[in-house]
Amino acid sequence: MNQNLYSLLSSHFPKNPAAPCMILPDGRVWTYGDIERASGRIANLIMKLGLQPGDRVAAQVEKTPEALVLYLATIRAGMVFLPLNPAYQRQELDYFLGDAKPGLFVCRPQSRALADELATQAGVPHVLELDDAGRGSLIDAATPHADAFATAARNSADLAAILYTSGTTGRSKGAMLSHGNLAHNAKTLHDYWHFQPGDVLLHMLPTFHVHGLFVACHCVLLNGSAMFFEPKFDAVRAMSLLAESTVMMGVPTFYVRLLLEPTFGHETCRNIRLFVSGSAPLLKETFDEFKARTGHTILERYGMTEGGMFTSNPYEGERRGGTVGFPLPGTELRIVGAGGSATKAGSVGNIQVRGDNVFVGYWGMPEKTKEEFTTDGFFKTGDMGTWDRDGYVVISGRSKDLVITGGLNVYPKEIEDLIDAMPGVVESAVIGLPHPDFGEAVSAVVVRQKNPAGKALTESGIIAAIKDRLANFKVPKWVYLVDELPRNAMGKVQKNILRKNYSPMPGR
Ligand code: AMP
Repeated sequence: MNQNLYSLLSSHFPKNPAAPCMILPDGRVWTYGDIERASGRIANLIMKLGLQPGDRVAAQVEKTPEALVLYLATIRAGMVFLPLNPAYQRQELDYFLGDAKPGLFVCRPQSRALADELATQAGVPHVLELDDAGRGSLIDAATPHADAFATAARNSADLAAILYTSGTTGRSKGAMLSHGNLAHNAKTLHDYWHFQPGDVLLHMLPTFHVHGLFVACHCVLLNGSAMFFEPKFDAVRAMSLLAESTVMMGVPTFYVRLLLEPTFGHETCRNIRLFVSGSAPLLKETFDEFKARTGHTILERYGMTEGGMFTSNPYEGERRGGTVGFPLPGTELRIVGAGGSATKAGSVGNIQVRGDNVFVGYWGMPEKTKEEFTTDGFFKTGDMGTWDRDGYVVISGRSKDLVITGGLNVYPKEIEDLIDAMPGVVESAVIGLPHPDFGEAVSAVVVRQKNPAGKALTESGIIAAIKDRLANFKVPKWVYLVDELPRNAMGKVQKNILRKNYSPMPGR
């Protein structure tokens, strides 16, 4: 049997090609037939361009139905999809294109000049455009092609996607995910969360990330269901669409924002059977308030780019706030202490996972990949956690000091390097501080030199100097100017102390 993920998904598409798949804000509908035909045309185009199985198709585009279809067409043709956050700037893009060397780069029209320049440098042979209305040279070039396309034969170990995660050492790593990895997680979640006929998903997540692209879309496609496909989260809009949806998946920020709406409550959620939260910790207060206001118990789950979802609170049975539930079927999860032995309930250790969903390795980094796996094949997630007395997993922190802001990951090193390079700066430490809306706000603690350049540094000056070189979500919201950083006996900066010492700056 063809193990191409597209074959699995399309075998679950409704018999009736007129069945809706994506419902857009303006009321337009993309049917399952539309998806088959449009992905067929783009797959034919990709072949015509001369890409070979395994070649990468990178896309830095806005969330549109066409962008999702580009993903499906890519895997259908046997190529490897590489989604990029539209917020990425020149420096970041330069690295991704140079590292992944895609055979095709699809960009937004407004960044065409930059795309051409970087593509030439990186030896990327084809650049096409897709705009935020789903138009552009990609679609123009695909239109003359046939709708029919025989899905390329792939084995489960063949690559389907590469998603870049930032590296603590400053270098981003491309997590390679196979058709088998994605299929395994998709089937598990579809089952575990009881997807059923008639389900309609409210989709307000970005589609360059594992949550919105894989977790949400695969569940919908495997179920042959419809989804409200919205460009981004908006609490008022969400409240009106919830009335016609049965499932919502979101990052904790979505739930915090819904609770800020005075009229949000039981009535708004009367049609919903499941609220799922993940990508960042859901505060127990949010979990409790949501239950009190709506009668719904949010199901929190935990996972990462390198393997999709690892744990979930139960569909039936107690969903416990402050926990991420149990290891999913097919995922082995262990929590090990410093010496490598399994921890007892209540004691914090490193979370490691093994299973068919766990990624193949980091693109072009065999040594790094080897370091991140144990000799018996468990992946070291970098997350710290505990088992509670009933076997629920509790995430206690990130050993790698990742900052998660609005569900997006920010690795401090990348920002620290830019700040440290500024005149007048001795050093800096970037941490996450609690933020009511984003969960965490990127915050920089900066040590000034005692010279005129150092004295001239200001909070807004530092932000302005790096703003154009970073995606907006990575730019520090708050900057603290100090004389020195706390260090431990080994000379390491103690970020835990910084987090305690610096308080959020509300309203800024
Ligand atoms: P990403 O690869 O962008 O999906 O980010 C993965 C990281 O997000 C994980 O390694 C965790 O640190 C964090 N994460 C994901 N889900 C949760 C959750 N439910 N609670 C706490 N942290 C989470």
